[in-house]
Amino acid sequence: MIDAFSYAGSPARIVFGDGSRSKVAEWIVTAGCKRALVLATPHQRADAEALATEIGSLACGVFTGATMHTPVDVTETAMRMVAETEADCVVSLGGGSTTGLGKAIAYRTDLLQIVVPTTYAGSEVTPILGQTEGGRKTTVRDARILPEIVIYDPTLTHGLPVSMSVTSGLNAMAHAVEGLYARDRNPISTLMALEGLRAFSRSLPKIAEKPNDAGARSDALYGAWLCGTVLGTVGMALHHKICHTLGGSFDTPHAETHAVMLPHTAAFNAKAATAELAPVAKLFAGSIGAGLWDFAKSIGAPLSLKEFGLTEADLDRAASIAVENPYWNPRPIDRDSIRALLQEAWEGRRPA
Ligand code: NAD
Repeated sequence: MIDAFSYAGSPARIVFGDGSRSKVAEWIVTAGCKRALVLATPHQRADAEALATEIGSLACGVFTGATMHTPVDVTETAMRMVAETEADCVVSLGGGSTTGLGKAIAYRTDLLQIVVPTTYAGSEVTPILGQTEGGRKTTVRDARILPEIVIYDPTLTHGLPVSMSVTSGLNAMAHAVEGLYARDRNPISTLMALEGLRAFSRSLPKIAEKPNDAGARSDALYGAWLCGTVLGTVGMALHHKICHTLGGSFDTPHAETHAVMLPHTAAFNAKAATAELAPVAKLFAGSIGAGLWDFAKSIGAPLSLKEFGLTEADLDRAASIAVENPYWNPRPIDRDSIRALLQEAWEGRRPA
C-alpha cells in the first residue's frame, strides 16, 4: 500500500559526467546568457581562473571571496562586482560555501546560476540559503535560490582530500537518512535517498583507499546529487536541528559535525522509524546506529564532538537550544534525552 503523497519534481537541469566542466560555456549560451561571473573560495582561485579562461569571452570576471556561512558583507562585495561587470549569470565552482554565495546573489538579483560542485554537500540542488550577519545565521527558502543548472564533473573531485571526502559524504548521507523518515516524504524521495546511501556505502571506502579512483568518485558525486535532492525536497528532523545548533552556536565544523552526529541521531530514531530505516540497517551490517558508526570509523571519519573543542557545559547549552523550536522528529524529544544523546556523541561511543 502506497501512503498518500504530493510530489513536485525539481525544475533544475542536471548535467553529469567526467569532463562535463567543458560544457559550462555551452550551457551559458543555452540559457541565453552572455556575461558569467565565476565564483570560488580563495583556496580554489586557480581552478576558478582556469574555468574562466575556458569559458573565454563569456566570462566577465572572477570573484574568489566566498567563505563559510555566506556572510552578508561578502555577498555585498560580490554584488558590487556583479554590477560593475554587468554579469547576467553566475558560475559557482566549489563546495557549499561557494554555492551559498551564488545563491545569495541570485536571491537578491534573480540571476541565473550554474553550479559546478566539487564536494558532496548537496547545496546545489536545494532552494535553501543560510546566511550570516552580525554573528546570526538565518535560513531562507525561495524559488530564486534553487540553481537552474548543475554540472557534475566527477574529475573535479579527484583532488578533494580524503578527510573532506569522507565527512562531506557522511554529511550528504545524513540528508538521505532523515529524508527516509520525513513526514512529507514521497516514493521518489525515498528511492533517491536509498540509492544515494547505496552509492556512498560502496564508494567512500574505495575513496579512502584510493582517492583518485574514477569509478568511486563518480559514484560518490552521483550519491551527492541524490542525497542533496532529498534535502531540497523534504523536511529534515532532529539530526539537522542538532547540527545547526552546534554549528550555529558553537562554530563546530559543518561536514565533520554531521559525520559525528549521524550514527547517534540515526540510533536515536531507529525504533520510531523501524520500517523506514530497515533498508539502511540492511546496508550497514544489520544495525543502523552501530553499523553507521563502524562504517564511519572504517573510513577514518571523526567520531567524537570532543575533537572539536566542545566542553560538557557546552552540551548543556546545546541541549537546551536544540529543544527550543524543535523540528518535527519521528521520536518525540525532550531535553534529557537530547543531552544524553549529545554526551554519547561527545565521548564518541559506539551506539548500541
Ligand atoms: P566548503 O564549500 O566550505 O569547502 C571547504 C574548503 O574546501 C574550501 O576551502 C573549498 O575551497 C575547498 N574545496 C572544495 N572542493 C574542493 C576540492 N575538490 N578540492 C580541494 N579543495 C576543495 O565545504 P562544504 O562542506 O562543501 O560546504 C559547507 C557549507 O555549505 C556550509 O556553510 C553549509 O551550511 C552549506 N550547505 C548548505 C546547504 C543548503 O542547502 N543551503 C546544504 C549543504 C551545505
